[in-house]
Amino acid sequence: MNSELIPCKNSIVSEILRKCFEKKTLSKDEILLLLESKEDRFLFHVAFFLKEIYKKKTITYSRKIFINITNLCKDFCSYCTYRKEPYNRQAVMMYPNEILELAEKGKKYKCTEALIVSGERPEERYKEAKDWLRSLNFKSTAEYVSNISEKITKKTGLLPHSNLGNISKEEMKMLKDYNVSLGLMLESSTYRLREKGMAHEYAPSKDPGIRLETIENAGILKIPLTTGILIGIGENIEEIIDSILLIGNINSKFGHIQEVILQNFRPKTNTKMHNMPPPEDNLFLRLVAISRILLPTMNIQIPPNLSPLNYSSFIDAGINDWGGISPVTVDHVNPEFGWPDIKDIKKNTQSKNQILRARLPIYPEFIKKEFINPTLENYIDNLMDKDGLVKEEYLNEF
Ligand code: SF4
Repeated sequence: MNSELIPCKNSIVSEILRKCFEKKTLSKDEILLLLESKEDRFLFHVAFFLKEIYKKKTITYSRKIFINITNLCKDFCSYCTYRKEPYNRQAVMMYPNEILELAEKGKKYKCTEALIVSGERPEERYKEAKDWLRSLNFKSTAEYVSNISEKITKKTGLLPHSNLGNISKEEMKMLKDYNVSLGLMLESSTYRLREKGMAHEYAPSKDPGIRLETIENAGILKIPLTTGILIGIGENIEEIIDSILLIGNINSKFGHIQEVILQNFRPKTNTKMHNMPPPEDNLFLRLVAISRILLPTMNIQIPPNLSPLNYSSFIDAGINDWGGISPVTVDHVNPEFGWPDIKDIKKNTQSKNQILRARLPIYPEFIKKEFINPTLENYIDNLMDKDGLVKEEYLNEF
């Protein structure tokens, strides 16, 4: 399909699609019109066309272990089942020996990513968290994660990628020594979600201004960053588009956003938002396609476990990554949604005439001096092939 062949009935939509082919910037009204039009087939064609231009036929995933270092958190988001109170039997505060044991297991299963996740600064709310850190001679979660990241890398060669919520510039600098990338979801750029009765009313760390500052700090420090949005937690369509555009703008300024996750909200029992419906499948698909059109050169991920019945349809909408998949651990943030088997993901990816490849927790285009601490260069070299993806022979050894 090319720009001469857009047989939409709606001539305005045809014109907007033509602008997409020609890589021209769309106005917000044009984006909204495209999203609301009934010309899905053409929207997906354009998104897929752009994906193949910029990402060829490759779809990636990261083979990981999920280290749930602590699920204590100082904030309260109305949809979250991850955070636990210290007295809860499912509260976690992991010790170095447990973490290193898990990392060894990850190595045995040919993982390359050690994803380290914590709640938001638990030591600021809970004495238990402070005591746990003090017993290990650390003052903050970030300090502990920085130290354990080094141990994981040196012992197993797995590459850490940490997602600890809002961290300071100094903490980021410290983490960069042994983290090939960091993660922080923007979730949404609208301040409305902090209002009374909204999803982030009791989550000051989800203030968009604070999150944007953290995202920008990663840019200043040249840290490859994974960010993204959570769709369906009370924002409207315009606000979703604003969030996508904002991520694109920050990336144009700093060039450090290695990946944009588009995560669909899933209501969970025992949360305030258990009655809120998830975003409608077709709307989510269109938003994914719009994201590819607005961020044509960027890496776009959807988590397949959150759309178990139709995840392969997101290939049609232009994604090029399935995110972290673990053959060892569960998704501790969404334990209700198991990851599909990697063999199934491969089969479904191939059914769309695409090639599944394992990537590192740092995307190939970021494997260059300014983004990597010299301490990590050899560890990355040991795992990557000439394309910057995981060596096939490393995986074949399994
Ligand atoms: S989503 Fe993150 S910040 Fe919000 S309550 Fe859960 S762990 Fe805390």
